Amino acid sequence: MENGLKAAFYTFGCRLNQAETALISQSFRNEKYEIADINEHVDVCIINSCTVTEQADARCRQLVRQVLRRNADTFIAVVGCYSQTAAESLKRIDGIDLIVGSQDKMDVVRYIDVPAKRSEPIVVLNKMSRQPFTIENTGTNLPTTRANLKIQDGCNFMCSFCVVPFARGRARSRAFWDIQREAIRLTDAGYKEIVVTGVNIGTYNFEDKYFIDVIKMLLAIPALKRLRISSIEPATLTEEIFDLMRENEKLCPHLHLPLQSGSDKILLDMKRHYNSGEFLQFVNQGVAKVPDILIATDMIVGFPTESELDFEKSGSIMQDSPLVYAHIFNYSDRKGTATEHIKGRVDPKIKKKRSKILHQISDTKKEAFYRRFIGRKLRVLTEEKDQNDCWSGFSDNYIKVSIGNGSTLQRNQLVDVKISDVRNGFAIGFVESDSAHFEIEQLEEINT
Ligand code: SF4
Repeated sequence: MENGLKAAFYTFGCRLNQAETALISQSFRNEKYEIADINEHVDVCIINSCTVTEQADARCRQLVRQVLRRNADTFIAVVGCYSQTAAESLKRIDGIDLIVGSQDKMDVVRYIDVPAKRSEPIVVLNKMSRQPFTIENTGTNLPTTRANLKIQDGCNFMCSFCVVPFARGRARSRAFWDIQREAIRLTDAGYKEIVVTGVNIGTYNFEDKYFIDVIKMLLAIPALKRLRISSIEPATLTEEIFDLMRENEKLCPHLHLPLQSGSDKILLDMKRHYNSGEFLQFVNQGVAKVPDILIATDMIVGFPTESELDFEKSGSIMQDSPLVYAHIFNYSDRKGTATEHIKGRVDPKIKKKRSKILHQISDTKKEAFYRRFIGRKLRVLTEEKDQNDCWSGFSDNYIKVSIGNGSTLQRNQLVDVKISDVRNGFAIGFVESDSAHFEIEQLEEINT
């Protein structure tokens, strides 16, 4: 029986936030809320916020206004990183009824008794724990066929530009057995692919278990077909990960390793845990051991001390290394971080120009990488169907594939697709009837 109330969710920011929204929405379902789309007329709206840039903050404030324009009576809760770092400024925004920081965000449902608009928001802001944690729910309410599995939270690295340790606290890990429990429940619910996520997942440590043990434990779950590692700090991995990718085809040949800058001087100013040579050596080892691996990265342009020469080093490393593409961020001051007090700022116009140059290199390299697979087969997990009845999804090495002849396929099927072209950011391919049906049947048989 439902409680007659509708709740909608909106997630800003990272994959970890997406994983957490899926878990939070499950807790609302447990309390008999009907889960609705954010565009509907809803009683409660939960905004899982991000504060990684000024833009992320602004978008959160904008969304509050949008929701209230649609329905002035909607009870609005802002939870997560922005709430944690800027509760006082959020309190001054009209229309927010509940502000919950990072420590209590997973329990937000408990702070909503009757979702009636308030003249003053309730603020729940507690000190963040440093202890290992468990999570009660299973995050099955996901828009994709890839289930995000949270294994860790917080970070101790204190990179000079990063607000995350203030927004999410110090590193702590989820109980090993609790990760296994949720992973098994996710596969029971039909998920074939799991993406392990957290803030600094490579630092996972629960009792005598480390990150590599989590990966091995998940690979041993028979019903799991694919395991993907989300963004991971390069200095926390060893070559063993490439050996595992080679030995076990369930472990996706795909890594997202944030480099942030190609200049060693900037990496030092950023207080990163590696230099460009060490980073490149690791990437090259990966490509040598797993030739079809896709390694992507994050880059920051316009760090306060970044000179033209420093930027050129970022451009060269993007251009000349095996990195396939980059997520590019313009540096933005974040309150409380060490960089806030560093002297010098890069002109916004120069930041824009640098960003454009890196985007061009990244786009060209990504297309070239996709083209390498023309004439070859990629195994794709179907995710979305467009207006032309074409299914799309990702290959194990994270190539976005559109399937030209797959109208009879279903969501969440693993199929072998022969790639024939690259267009509009997709590798275009076709399911070859015999082999594809064999693969589908085989997988369905295993799943039942
Ligand atoms: S490793 Fe650095 S950039 Fe990543 S969350 Fe920790 S402090 Fe921030």
